[in-house]
Amino acid sequence: QAKLRGKGSYQIFDRQMHQVMFERLTLENNLQRALELQEFELYYQPIVHMQSQALAGFEALVRWSRHGQELIAPEEFIPCMEATGLIVPVGLMILEQACHQLHQWHQQGFAELTVSVNLSGRQIGSPTLLADIERILARTEINPTKLKLEITESAVMDNAEMAIELTQTLRARGIEISIDDFGTGYSSLGYLHRFPVDNLKIDRSFVTQFQSMTQKYCVVEMIVTLSKQLGLAVIVEGIETAEQFAWLQKLDCEFGQGYLFSKPLAAKEIERRYLQPHH
Ligand code: C2E
Ligand code: MG
Ligand code: MG
Ligand code: MG
Repeated sequence: QAKLRGKGSYQIFDRQMHQVMFERLTLENNLQRALELQEFELYYQPIVHMQSQALAGFEALVRWSRHGQELIAPEEFIPCMEATGLIVPVGLMILEQACHQLHQWHQQGFAELTVSVNLSGRQIGSPTLLADIERILARTEINPTKLKLEITESAVMDNAEMAIELTQTLRARGIEISIDDFGTGYSSLGYLHRFPVDNLKIDRSFVTQFQSMTQKYCVVEMIVTLSKQLGLAVIVEGIETAEQFAWLQKLDCEFGQGYLFSKPLAAKEIERRYLQPHH
C-alpha cells in the first residue's frame, strides 16, 4: 500500500476523493435520520389566477428543519436523496402530508383550493408508485381533481415509457399533471404530443429580466400560444415585480406564482394570512 501511494499527485487525488465520499456519506446518514426524526416540513406557496388575482391553490415545497432549527433549502439535499433513492419514501411522506393538509383546508370551507406536489424522476421509476398514491388518496380522502403532480421535462425524458403510462393512469383518476420548469429541458416541444398533460409551468428563468418584446417575452408568448392550441393551462413561475405581472396578464396566462404574491410559507402562516374563516 505504501508503494502504491508513492506518487504525491495520486495521494492528493485520493485524499480529495476520500473527503467527497465522506461528506456524501455524512449527508446521506443525516438525511436518513431526518426522515426518522420527521425533520422534513412542507411550506406552501400561493398560486393565483392571473386575471382575478384570486387564490387558486398552493405548491408544496419541502424544507429540512435540521435539529428543529435552521431551514435548509431543497437544492441542498434533494439531489443526494435522488442519488440514494431516499426521495422515494420521503416523496411519499411529502405527498401524504400535502394531501392531508389540503383535506383540512377543504374542510375549513376552502373546497376549491388545489395542491401541487413535485414528483422526482426516481419516484416515477418506482413500481409501487400508483398503489402508493391510491393508498394516500384513500387515507386522506381528498378529491383527486384538486391534486396536481409536477414532473420536470428531464424526469419525463429519462423514463419516457413509464412516464407516459403513469400520467395516463393518473389523469384517468382525475389527477392533473403539470410539466415543471418548462422550457429548460432539451426537447421542450416534440414530446408534448406523446405525453398528455394538463398544465405547463413556465420556468422562472424566462421571467427574470423579462422586458416587453425581448427574446424572453417572445418565448413566453410562444409557449402561451402553443398551450392554448394544445388545450393546456399555463402557470408562470417566479413573478417578482408588478411590471412582470402586468405584461404576463396581457399574454393571457391562467395562473401565476412568485414572490410578488407570496414566498412559500408554513401552513400556519398560510392560514393566518389567506385562510381566515368566512363571515
Ligand atoms: P420548483 O418545483 O420549480 O419550485 C419553485 C421554486 O421556485 C421554489 O424553490 C420556490 O421557492 C421558488 N420561487 C417561487 N417564486 C419565486 C420568485 O418569485 N423568485 C425566486 N427567486 N424564486 C421563486 P424551492 O422551494 O427552493 O425549491 C427548489 C426546487 O426543489 C423545486 O423547484 C423542486 O424542483 C425541488 N423541490 C422542492 N420541494 C420538493 C419536493 O417536495 N419534492 C421534490 N421531488 N422536489 C422538490
Ligand atoms: Mg414545482
Ligand atoms: Mg418549477
Ligand atoms: Mg424550478
